[in-house]
Amino acid sequence: MARDRGPQCKQCRREGEKLFLKGERCLTDKCGVERRAYPPGQHGRGRSKQSEYRLQLREKQKARRFYGVLEKQFRAYYAKASRQEGVTGENLLRLLESRLDNVLVRLGFATSRRQARQLVLHGHWSVNGRRVDVPSYQIKPNDVISIKSGSTADQVIRGATELTSAVPAWLQADHDGLTAKVLRHPERQEIDTPVQEQLIVELYSK
Ligand code: SF4
Repeated sequence: MARDRGPQCKQCRREGEKLFLKGERCLTDKCGVERRAYPPGQHGRGRSKQSEYRLQLREKQKARRFYGVLEKQFRAYYAKASRQEGVTGENLLRLLESRLDNVLVRLGFATSRRQARQLVLHGHWSVNGRRVDVPSYQIKPNDVISIKSGSTADQVIRGATELTSAVPAWLQADHDGLTAKVLRHPERQEIDTPVQEQLIVELYSK
């Protein structure tokens, strides 16, 4: 399964803000953005031309990197979002937010989407009692997420829950039992992804 294997801190530095791709390390002063607050590469500290297209492209790249999705998959999400009723940008964010790997991070069961993705791929999670090993699996209201019985990742997941301060209102987590329930779809204001989705819509509407 294809995924972005590039250096993660470079991705944050390119977007000029913390995307929290490395879990616990992102909260320390070892963070790449904190240490080198300029874009990577030979010309990183040079002046870059701002244009409408550049802003839109950067916003799309930021969203893609935040959720750990490759270009082709991101376009497929956009196509699906544009076919749905309602505001396309919000639909897009809702689809990305409903990925199982992202939901595990929101629930506090993983410190990063990359870690969540690995836990899912290795079969440590079930949805409604059935093992799910597809990180892009779309969760739905009333889905019950639980750790697979006898999972060897128990300690890793419990360690992640200790770093979690709050779980969004559309989810309900039991950190002792390592189970959770999806109460409903998230509202736009409950998605704190640092992205202006309208710019992505403008980019893809050209
Ligand atoms: Fe981004 Fe985390 Fe690296 Fe900081 S430590 S640059 S937030 S991936």
